[in-house]
Amino acid sequence: MEWKAEKVLVIGAGISGIAAAKMARNFGAEVVLSDAKAEGEIPQDLSELRSLGVRLALGPQDEKQLDGVTRVILSPAVPVKIPLVQAARQRQITVESEVEFAWQLAKAPIYAVTGTNGKTTTTTLLGQLMETVYPVVGVGGNIGVPLCEEAVRVGSEGCIVAEISSYQMEATQHFRPRAAAILNVTPDHVVRHGSLEVYQQMKEKIFAEQTAEDFLILNYDDPKTRGMAERAKAKVCFFSRREALEEGAFLEDDQLVMRWQGKTHTILPARQLRIKGGHNIENALAASAVAFLAGAQPEKIAKVLHDFPGVEHRIEPVRMVDGVMYYNDSKATNTDSAIKALDSFPEEPVVLIAGGDDKMTDLTEFMQLVKQRCTKLILVGNAAARFKEAAIRNGFPTTDIREAGYSMEKAVEIAHALAKPSQIVLLSPACASFDMFSGFEERGRVFKNLVKALKDTMA
Ligand code: ADP
Repeated sequence: MEWKAEKVLVIGAGISGIAAAKMARNFGAEVVLSDAKAEGEIPQDLSELRSLGVRLALGPQDEKQLDGVTRVILSPAVPVKIPLVQAARQRQITVESEVEFAWQLAKAPIYAVTGTNGKTTTTTLLGQLMETVYPVVGVGGNIGVPLCEEAVRVGSEGCIVAEISSYQMEATQHFRPRAAAILNVTPDHVVRHGSLEVYQQMKEKIFAEQTAEDFLILNYDDPKTRGMAERAKAKVCFFSRREALEEGAFLEDDQLVMRWQGKTHTILPARQLRIKGGHNIENALAASAVAFLAGAQPEKIAKVLHDFPGVEHRIEPVRMVDGVMYYNDSKATNTDSAIKALDSFPEEPVVLIAGGDDKMTDLTEFMQLVKQRCTKLILVGNAAARFKEAAIRNGFPTTDIREAGYSMEKAVEIAHALAKPSQIVLLSPACASFDMFSGFEERGRVFKNLVKALKDTMA
């Protein structure tokens, strides 16, 4: 492609948009970066862009920004329905997402992971599994590393593992991963896509361009993803944690098994996984299936699965103090995730720290599980009053509830004082964090630092 003749408008000064702008500029294109925010509101550093000669068009967006533009690249946070993108399409300017841009630049095969939940865990694990097959592995996309940068860095010898969100698929046309895994589809992001149907269509775009040479890895246990097989042109490989399959990756007698082309490979007992919970068995099965189909040896898959510690802030073991294990699950920003976390500890009584910025969703199912699994409930943030009321309404004893106001320090202190050996302390807030922190990452790190500072009186 002759970039010098192109005038590229990148919309969205997020990390992927900025990376695409830099790259197009380095290829010699004239580049403008447009964002509806004013400069002071953009957290990213824009100085390098300026020094490269990328022009910034910040603040209210105007159709004039499209004059002379030959292609538009969208950062994932930018919906296609905004007027500037609609106007670009009317002018028949090519509009593509940063993922599509990365796909065009990639010389190595792309292995993609999407789904409502479990993307980051599965993508991270798959990245490690692929290291047993390829000399260089790039991991990018929705995971916080721009995909276009990884596509270029990896060159032609390696492979690219891509975490793909539904947002990123809105403006793709030719994106064709060699293998794609779809983990599950549950209601989420419906506001952006307009309906659950459109959301599902976005997920399905990941396999729309695949052919019979490619692989599509689908969750057999989720009716929505199972049904996608009918529309796939790629070779379908199912995974299931509930049923032994004729072909695919599944759990049988607590073993992770891969059965493919008439051969059955036993990979690893599920209890040897360090990542907790049934949902993580699904993630492990999906990642193993992709890696196997890419040529990974079952023994090597087993070793990586055995050693994989999980991803920060997702039921992350922190430390044992006074016979009590502490877990950081700050990423649980909704009740579904917190339920998954509680379900991951069927044996150990839980001292749960929950609350934060309330998402105002129904708490019944969550609190019923709290009643079954938790010995104490410690509440923080602006959700505390509603959570307390819901806990009591669902039969959790009032005397086992403590409130720590807006102080994580106090919450950890209380947990330390109350938890008894062989119980666990779990931070799984079921809430966003913005009433107390800049995001779930900061919340999790603050929690971990407090736990690391606790005095172990039994040591
Ligand atoms: P994502 O990147 O899709 O948000 P993560 O791997 O970061 O997914 O996991 C986020 C949360 O989603 C986890 O804390 C867990 O509670 C839940 N989760 C993870 N994997 C699954 C899965 N396969 N099915 C359902 N929920 C899951």
